[in-house]
Amino acid sequence: MAETHFNKIALIGIGLIGSSLARVIRQKNLAETISIMTRSQATLDEARKLDLGDEYSTDYGDVVRHADLIIVSVPVGASASVAKDIAFHLKPGAIVTDVGSTKTSVIEQMQPHIPEGVHFIPGHPIAGTERSGPEAGFAELFEGKWCILTPLEGTDPEAMAKLTAFWEACGSNIDLMDHEHHDRVLAIVSHLPQLISYNIVGTAKDMETVTSSEVIKYSASGFRDFTRLAASDPTMWRDVCLHNKEAILEMLARFSEDLSSLQKAIRWGKGDELFELFTQTRSIRREIIEAGQDVDVPDFGRQIASEHSDK
Ligand code: NAP
Repeated sequence: MAETHFNKIALIGIGLIGSSLARVIRQKNLAETISIMTRSQATLDEARKLDLGDEYSTDYGDVVRHADLIIVSVPVGASASVAKDIAFHLKPGAIVTDVGSTKTSVIEQMQPHIPEGVHFIPGHPIAGTERSGPEAGFAELFEGKWCILTPLEGTDPEAMAKLTAFWEACGSNIDLMDHEHHDRVLAIVSHLPQLISYNIVGTAKDMETVTSSEVIKYSASGFRDFTRLAASDPTMWRDVCLHNKEAILEMLARFSEDLSSLQKAIRWGKGDELFELFTQTRSIRREIIEAGQDVDVPDFGRQIASEHSDK
């Protein structure tokens, strides 16, 4: 089994994902030194206050120099500038990975800047909540969740084994995927639901015949579940939309077609058709529960956060 203890891990970006990594790295003793870099002094101060690492800086060089594993956890649209800024400081043999929600665009942005002798292995943990910032993270975020790695042709097997062992130590199950396939899969399971949520919440906000206090009062009837997704970080989701454009547009087109069929079935009173569709969709829910992927991560996170604050 590959070594899971690194001498120095550099975390670039210390929001929900970066700070969850910092916490699990410390909890599982996966690094001698956790070095944290973020763009703003305010976020860095917050990370220091939360005691998330051993070293803190707003300077890329300070953090990346001598690091064996560098994990980039910033909005996907910032990947190119981060890769450009860390490139000069990377040591030969280091592993650079990311956690971005889109993969083709991140590879296009980062790969050209990664020097020879440094192993670049893109990744995406399928775990998150609607919250952001260093305070939002928790060590258990990745527990029992998938982490998709999208290695490029010729990836060093030893580096791959080390990164796989790292994510497994964080509690994740690993899947390997081609980056374009990843982007299509995520467009349907994550990006489309997110856009539908933004749209539903936006529509409810614009309704003239239903008051906003009624929307809030009766939200438990379904609306509430959409508001959780729609509360997610706007920068992150703006970047996802702009950086997985083709796959998202394709899924939106399919969705619109299916919605039109649904509209037609309702208009023409086709009860059998509606019943058939609703029966089929029910079975997907059952499969998700059987696969153990039904844990409501945000509530799980809140529960853990409140357990910690009680101590
Ligand atoms: P977050 O909580 O908003 O934190 C973002 C971090 O990136 C902060 O440290 C922020 O620094 C830094 N940052 C923001 N804009 C930047 C820029 N232009 N240049 C350099 N640094 C910048 O975000 P997150 O939820 O951890 O998401 C990070 C990445 O993980 C994203 O690529 C996202 O697609 C991916 N992801 C998110 C989830 C989720 O559910 N949230 C799940 C899986 C993957 P300052 O605060 O100092 O500005």
